[in-house]
Amino acid sequence: MTSAPPASPHFVIVGGGTAGWMSACLLARQLGPACRYTLVESSDIGIIGVGEGSTPYLRDFFRQLGLEERDWMPACHATYKAGIRFPGWSTHPGYESYVHPFFNEADRPLGQAFIQQANQRRCGEDVDANPADFFLAAELARQRRAPHYVHPAQHPATDYAYHFDSGLLGSFLKRHAQEQLGLQHCVDTVAAVERHAESGDITALRLQSSGQRLEGDFFIDCSGFRGLLINETLGEPFIPWGDRLFNDRAIAIPTPLEPDRDIASETTSTALGHGWAWQIPLTHRHGNGYVYSSQFISDDAAEAALRAHLGPAAEGASARRLKMRVGRVARHWRHNCVAIGLSQGFIEPLEATALMLIQFSVQHLIEALQTGGDDPATLRERYNAEINRMFDGVCDYVQTHYLLNTREDTEYWRANRAMKPGSDRLAELLASWDAGADFDAALGRHEAALMYQRPSWYCLLAGMGRFPANAPGHRAAPSQAMALSGLQARAALMDQARKHFLPHREALRRLATSA
Ligand SMILES: Cc1cc2nc3c(=O)[nH]c(=O)nc-3n(C[C@H](O)[C@H](O)[C@H](O)COP(=O)(O)OP(=O)(O)OC[C@H]3O[C@@H](n4cnc5c(N)ncnc54)[C@H](O)[C@@H]3O)c2cc1C
Repeated sequence: MTSAPPASPHFVIVGGGTAGWMSACLLARQLGPACRYTLVESSDIGIIGVGEGSTPYLRDFFRQLGLEERDWMPACHATYKAGIRFPGWSTHPGYESYVHPFFNEADRPLGQAFIQQANQRRCGEDVDANPADFFLAAELARQRRAPHYVHPAQHPATDYAYHFDSGLLGSFLKRHAQEQLGLQHCVDTVAAVERHAESGDITALRLQSSGQRLEGDFFIDCSGFRGLLINETLGEPFIPWGDRLFNDRAIAIPTPLEPDRDIASETTSTALGHGWAWQIPLTHRHGNGYVYSSQFISDDAAEAALRAHLGPAAEGASARRLKMRVGRVARHWRHNCVAIGLSQGFIEPLEATALMLIQFSVQHLIEALQTGGDDPATLRERYNAEINRMFDGVCDYVQTHYLLNTREDTEYWRANRAMKPGSDRLAELLASWDAGADFDAALGRHEAALMYQRPSWYCLLAGMGRFPANAPGHRAAPSQAMALSGLQARAALMDQARKHFLPHREALRRLATSA
């Protein structure tokens, strides 16, 4: 976009994966019928077809579309997600299964006690500081309850996320975009891309089967890892992050739910020999997969390891093998084209952040287009800096899981621990934590750059049991007598969970019958 965008542009979205449909829905909903929207997807090039866990921000996405949970969750076999459990990443006694809960208003008193005790423990005091004992969401997940008050109006706000069948979510959004938002849909493969001779802007796409020339004013590249427009056409370099995130492969194998147990309300991400295995509970099956590094294990050995981990449930189930391009482009917005989804970058799915980054990328684009004002180059520069900040912030947090691991069983885990932090910011945070310095002050210094806020950092560092012995404290530690034991904290949470939250399957049944 060398010149200012037209007032009512024609948006052409390339790609019908989750990124394409999420982008189409948000653009059409927020910019309205003054603009035109066309989505092109190829029937010859498939979608990635995984990506079944979200962060709490997905709730805003559906709110923005004016959709209630009952409108979409049953259609996508969706379940509630209270957080993520990470068994096997740390070997510190008492910290073998770290929990990253989603936070609730009701967490305030116990959450503050947890942070205070984590700081005491950093300074050598023998107090309980495992987030699994102090956060409501962790208890709800333990009891397999939906993280959703039975009577929400009578309680403070809760935060939670979802699990869903990614193919069904794509189909749902496709229907919604076509039926409710008036989007035009075209099934064909883009064979060539035309650009303006002087400005370099993209002017049209040539479609393979129909031979059609599809003109547009603004192009959204949702073509997946290939980056058809951003990389192949505009030549934007991709910055690989293999130096900080080793995993570049995944294998997915679905398994049935356990019939005699309630449905779990958390993602489980279990460390295996050369990566980690996810388990995502849906209403009709489990999604499972192994995310690993091809430097350390072959695809066949990884599949065998995943099958061994899943046991008899995986017998006869077919496996899908996937390659992952981990890193990001240097600039997401070039000329009149913005890359969104796997084309712009991907951080391995440990914290299930990809859809969140898609959502933020589209939202920021809409705001930039609506605000306008500045010259196009400034608009693009600001946008690119902001999206890079988000990717880099997520990368810091995800890499920290690997840096903190204490496993000794394979070279993979030792090499992960020996990696250099991907940013000076992360190096400083870890140094501050280990030194027993004022960690809140360190977080405060980097607040503008961080994607995860204070409780998440404390949960990760304390939850993995990162408490260096004899660390000098930055202030006198409070008396041990004031400390709350994990058992005391949990007793209060257990009671709340039983009183105010439904068993997960029952909550989902009620939702489905209200649809
Ligand atoms: C192992 C794994 C696990 C993941 N887990 C999670 C998770 O838990 N949570 C999460 O948020 N995310 C997760 N993700 C990421 C998530 O799957 C993706 O971000 C999401 O599916 C979006 O993909 P996409 O739409 O960008 O690309 P794709 O799904 O690959 O879609 C690409 C589209 O582009 C089209 N296309 C390509 N070339 C052309 C052409 N020449 N002409 C026309 N059309 C074309 C294709 O037809 C297709 O429709 C995971 C990813 C992986 C690899």
